[in-house]
Formats: sequence, C-alpha cells, structure tokens
Amino acid sequence: ADGYHRAVKENRNLYNMLQELRGNIQVFCRVRPTFVAGGKGSIDYIGNDGTLILLDQLKSQNVRKAFQFNKVFGPNATQVEVYKETESLIRSVMDGYNVCIFAYGQTGSGKTYSMCGPEIGSAKDIGINSKALNDLFQISCIKEDIKYEIHVQMVEIYNEQVRDLLSEETSTKKYPLMHIVILFLKVNLVFYNSFSATNRLLLSLTSSTLEIRNCSSNGGLSLPDATMHHVQSTSDVMNLMKAGEKNRAFSCTAMNNRSSRSHSVLTIHVCGRDVLGNTLQSCLHLVDLAGSERVDKSEVTGDRLKEAQHINKSLSCLGDVIAALAQKSSYIPYRNSKLTQLLQNSLGGHAKMLMLAHVSPEAESYGETISTLKFAQRVSTVELGAAQVNKESSEIRDLREQVDNLKKELAYRE
Ligand code: ADP
Ligand code: MG
Repeated sequence: ADGYHRAVKENRNLYNMLQELRGNIQVFCRVRPTFVAGGKGSIDYIGNDGTLILLDQLKSQNVRKAFQFNKVFGPNATQVEVYKETESLIRSVMDGYNVCIFAYGQTGSGKTYSMCGPEIGSAKDIGINSKALNDLFQISCIKEDIKYEIHVQMVEIYNEQVRDLLSEETSTKKYPLMHIVILFLKVNLVFYNSFSATNRLLLSLTSSTLEIRNCSSNGGLSLPDATMHHVQSTSDVMNLMKAGEKNRAFSCTAMNNRSSRSHSVLTIHVCGRDVLGNTLQSCLHLVDLAGSERVDKSEVTGDRLKEAQHINKSLSCLGDVIAALAQKSSYIPYRNSKLTQLLQNSLGGHAKMLMLAHVSPEAESYGETISTLKFAQRVSTVELGAAQVNKESSEIRDLREQVDNLKKELAYRE
C-alpha cells in the first residue's frame, strides 16, 4: 500500500510540474457536432496540435483564417477525452491550488454539455463537473495523511447581481404558496406583456443579492453570505446542483430564457488538515458563462438591452483580466465586473485557469464563431507561429555551445 501511495504522490507531482510547464492559463476550443445534415460548416480543419482553420463564410473566395490554442476538440471528441486534458488541473486543487474552469461560447454551442453533460446528474456522457468531483472525492479518500473537508457554494450572476442558488429562502419548498404567486405573475406577463415590472418583481421575491468581499478575513471567502453546504460524495453535489438549477428556473420567466443570460458559478471549497494540524485550503470554480452572442442592437430595448449590456461588459472584462494576466501586466482590472471581482482570488497568482471556448460549426453561426475564436485567442498564452519556438531553441543551442566551450576551456586549463 505504501508503494502505491508513493506512486500516486509522484504521479501527482509530475502532473503539477507538467502543468507549470504549460503555464497557468490554458485555452481549449471545442467544436460541437453539427445540427445540420449535409451542410458544409464553417470549420475547415482541426489539427492535433491545437490548430483550427475557419472558412470565411462572407467572402466569395475560399478565405481561411487560422487560430492556435493549447488544444482543439473536434465534433467527435468524447467527454472522456475532454476531461483527460483537465484532469491534472482538478488534481492540483487537492494540492492547494485555486482553479477556475470557464465554459465560454454562444448559446447552443455546448457549454452546459461540457460542464454538466446532456443533463445534470445523467449517467451517460457525464460532464467535467461530475468527473472532477469524482476525482476530488477519490483523492480525498486515498490520502490517509490528510483529512479533507469539502464544501460547495452555487451562485448566479445576473445583471451584475450575485444571487445564492442554494439558499433555503430561494427554495420553493419553503414557500409553497410562492408557486401560485409566480403562476399569477407569469399569466400577467403573457397577457399584459409587462415584462420589466414582472421580471423585477419575480427577482425581488425569490432572493436577495449578495455582497462580494475581497479581504483576507472570512478565511478568504469572497461570498461569506452565500450558503455553504458540506458534501461527502458526487451525488450530494449533483443533488445540490439540481436544486440550484431549479431555483434558477424559478425566477426565470417563460419568455425570458434567463439561464443563457446569467453566469452560473459552482464553487467547491477544499480544506485539508494533516496530523500535525497544518491546513491547506483551495477552491475549484466551475463557471458556465452567459451566452456570448451579440444581440442586434437596433432591435433591443428596455430590460433586454440592459441584460445584453451587462453580459457584454462582464465577458469583455473577463477577457481583459485574463489577457492582462497572460501578458503579466502589472495592473489587472478585476474590479470592472462582478464576475472577476468574485473570482479575484482564483485568477492570477498561483491560481490555474482553463478557458473552454465552444463554437457551433454551422455556417450561419460564422459571425459568433469568429468572435468566440478571437476572444479565446486574445486570452491565450500560446505563441502564434513557429518563429518564437525556433528563436528559443536557437538561443538554448547558443547557450549550450557556450557552456561546452567553457567546459573545454576549463579542462584545458586543468
Ligand atoms: P449552451 O449551454 O452553450 O447553450 P448546450 O450545452 O445546451 O449549449 O448545447 C446545446 C445542445 O447541443 C444540447 O442539446 C446539447 O446536448 C447538444 N450538444 C452540445 N455539445 C454536444 C456534443 N459535444 N455532443 C453532443 N451533443 C452536444
Ligand atoms: Mg447552457
């Protein structure tokens, strides 16, 4: 058993080293299978080396645009293949690193599929969430020298307001009459089309908004007031997530598909304590972002416009923060959106991050696809072109030659 534990430990150290070499920011792209039979989509080529070539759908000639990421998954990639590439990140959570995994892309591009699978808690094609949790709980059992406690929080950010999705107060169970009130409001909505007022009332009825704190008190918790649930298995978390999604739908009106316009953040807090009383604290954020599609400005007014502006702002702010981190800039604009403020402790520093950019392959999604790819490219640390690589290797070759010459000189003198 000792040998086994040692092997596991060594393996994990290797994982962390590998991760360090790759850098703390990774960007993957995933192309969903097409919904259109026989149609020629906008994706021209997907390479094993992280290259993706897009076929311009606006020009008459075949113009191609190349993008480079850490990894690209084609439409045939399985959930298992995607998870294999994120596994090492999950493992480093148990070693005390904070980790953020973001699913980015237009609505319908497969964000929720990657994170949760076809549906939350489904047994087939399970997503990153469940696989990550399975691994976390498994590691916590293997490590006999450290005792782990795992807690979960789940919130959504809608219109720059943070709401607790796991609070008892949000639960319909507590207020059975609330169903009737909601039904009444929905009927009101359909017949009188008083969207704004109804939506606002629904929101205020169902929950209060949370303050984000960025101080080292509260044990570094950025949302000390969000409900914290102690969990002991993946199914515990899945049940909470189902409840959370229900609460999300609870305040979501029939006409306004809220879930694609809010960011959902599932945070898994890991606390380890060894026999000597040393503690290790880290967290894993699994973020299903709001749909990145640009709404047609000319058609949008009122609440819908406000929603779109908030999404634009928070997604571009997330892009700014990651790009600043990737460029090792001295100023990181965390405070420009609730999302980046909330995740501040887990973005930058020793924290690790993975952006999973999702694209739809259909030709009609070309505009959104190129904007997603540009966003992902901007936050990526991958050097474009081979020149950089050659330069590095020639520098190393020069240095090695210098070392060799110095050694020869030394030997000669001796
Ligand atoms: P989003 O969360 O980005 O709006 P979804 O994850 O809901 O998109 O995906 C839209 C639809 O496409 C869903 O029915 C989902 O099951 C399906 N889908 C997405 N990605 C894949 C995939 N890689 N393989 C099979 N079906 C997928
Ligand atoms: Mg979704």
